[in-house]
Amino acid sequence: MTPGRPAVGYPGIDRTYGDLYDRVTRLARAFADLDVGRGDRIAYLGPNHPSLVETFFAAGLLGAVFVPLNTRLAAPELRFVLDDSGARVVVLGEGQDGGGLPGRHLTQDAFEELIAGAPAGPLDEPVSQDDICLIMYTSGTTGRPKGAMLTHANLIWNAVNLLVDVPLAHDEVTLVSAPLFHIAALAQTLVPTVLKGGRALLEPSFGVDRTFDLVESERVTMMFGVPSMFAALAGSPRWATADLSSLRHLLCGGAPVPEALIRAYRERGLTFLQGYGMTETSPGALFLGAGHPDGKLGSAGVPCFFSDVRLVAADGSPAVPGEPGEVYVQGPNVMPGYWRRPEETAKALSADGWFRSGDLGVTDADGYVRISGRISDMYISGGENVYPAEVESLLYEHPAVAECAVIGVPDEKWGEAGKALVVLRAGMSAEPDELLAHLDGRLARFKIPKYLEFVAELPKNGAGKLLKARLRERYREQRA
Ligand code: AMP
Ligand code: MG
Repeated sequence: MTPGRPAVGYPGIDRTYGDLYDRVTRLARAFADLDVGRGDRIAYLGPNHPSLVETFFAAGLLGAVFVPLNTRLAAPELRFVLDDSGARVVVLGEGQDGGGLPGRHLTQDAFEELIAGAPAGPLDEPVSQDDICLIMYTSGTTGRPKGAMLTHANLIWNAVNLLVDVPLAHDEVTLVSAPLFHIAALAQTLVPTVLKGGRALLEPSFGVDRTFDLVESERVTMMFGVPSMFAALAGSPRWATADLSSLRHLLCGGAPVPEALIRAYRERGLTFLQGYGMTETSPGALFLGAGHPDGKLGSAGVPCFFSDVRLVAADGSPAVPGEPGEVYVQGPNVMPGYWRRPEETAKALSADGWFRSGDLGVTDADGYVRISGRISDMYISGGENVYPAEVESLLYEHPAVAECAVIGVPDEKWGEAGKALVVLRAGMSAEPDELLAHLDGRLARFKIPKYLEFVAELPKNGAGKLLKARLRERYREQRA
């Protein structure tokens, strides 16, 4: 359509739609020569880079399944995900050596050789909209990551939902500095930008000054960020004076968005929109687009146009306005299930396609949904979800730990941060740093508690069940 227009940018790389098409079709053929076919998994380990985007699209052309890996995971966590997905090929991005990981590894040099050595031109693999194009891993209450399977149709409908609320144009310049191994960057920025023929500027990581530089020099029009990214920008000395006149749409979500943050952006004259969703719903479920009354800013908005959201009270009946309930999501963006986990799938997804989010919400009389909490004790630090059970089970391996509980506490910078409360075994002693060091290398850094405190006992009910809610209450004000 527009082969000469810029498609993907990266420091030192600029690819047009023509280049992208040429490289992606070559790459798809090269993957096929490596015996990767329909339904086979291709993993990618690395920060945002054009080769990630090319691997994603090439897998899609072949009917193969793209498995992006979170670079923040520790080696044992990555091994688990690779084994679970059974990825045949692992593309290693910038700065990744892949040491000890299973599968056939392709370095960036090998990747370029594959592309150079394969013929270009259309492929005629029969790929259906209902084929899985992506498996994205999310942790769970059990601590073991599960692969959410998303189809081509899931991602397309999510993009359609987004485009109903956000009028992206052909000349969009989208800054993609949130990691593409998370659903929001992939599905809320990259996919809709490419569908419209805009330009996706990929950055290997997020930086405050770098963001201001790019907005000014590249005339960025759109960006997604988790709240901690937008808070960092608003807290910068450049905030007041930077030229932000090119920005048309700022999308924020992935964790609770403080109302004060929304107001700061609006007062700066920017269109700052909030979305609520999750990996399993590709991700958009609720959206607060432009033009809603000011009084609704504390809510995550209304259901996306082609999706439904309902709130279910604790007794299973529909929650009435004002009554808290669990958020359920249904629609063409909802995943068909977790990869090879029929039991987990059955727990999360009803036969008629309602996905249980595990989040609590309250609807007002006009149908706006405020996300008010979570059913599980999951907390979100800088946009990354942490399931305390995973951290606790490793702490329990330490000989000095008799009992422990990990909770999320409010954090200025990251929204929430982890705090571990530990009861030491009688007669044993340990330093907090020693216990934290025990987690090092086995868990992603963002899962390692920021604080660790020794306590004499943990609050329990009569049946001996740990009262986490009471702990969270206790440390809410105290912060650390
Ligand atoms: P993930 O699957 O990693 O994208 O995480 C999804 C979870 O992030 C949701 O279940 C919510 O707990 C949280 N979340 C995402 N967006 C929002 C939002 N706008 N407000 C509050 N929580 C959110
Ligand atoms: Mg998240």
